[in-house]
Amino acid sequence: MKIALIAHDGKKADMVAFLRDHLDLFHRSDIELVSTGTTGKHVKNAGLEVNAMLSGPLGGDAQIAAMVAEKRIAAVFFFRDPLDKHPHEPDIAMLMRLCDVHNIPLATNPATASLVFKGLLER
Ligand code: PGA
Repeated sequence: MKIALIAHDGKKADMVAFLRDHLDLFHRSDIELVSTGTTGKHVKNAGLEVNAMLSGPLGGDAQIAAMVAEKRIAAVFFFRDPLDKHPHEPDIAMLMRLCDVHNIPLATNPATASLVFKGLLER
């Protein structure tokens, strides 16, 4: 099961804390992680393997959106920073829209991501 991880700069610390809180679950062999570029560095620092795409502003969100459209992603954990502006807002909107088009679980904060993750693992 492939899970996409994305965190805006103001939320990268939250992403690392989320990963550390769920490290045992993320270490399961059936879980594969993909992320945007800079988020990927933080994921690796947290001790997990990840396939990092381009940085978000350079197209990483768009790359992950394409995987969502191809149904290659089981869930997207996208910790958005609602208090900041982003130059790649159109890509962000596209990613969220495609999750809804294809009925892919999208968690935009750690509380939701935790519930979605546990739900996915129970399937
Ligand atoms: P980043 O991209 O992981 O490369 O910082 C995230 C984003 O801004 O969408």
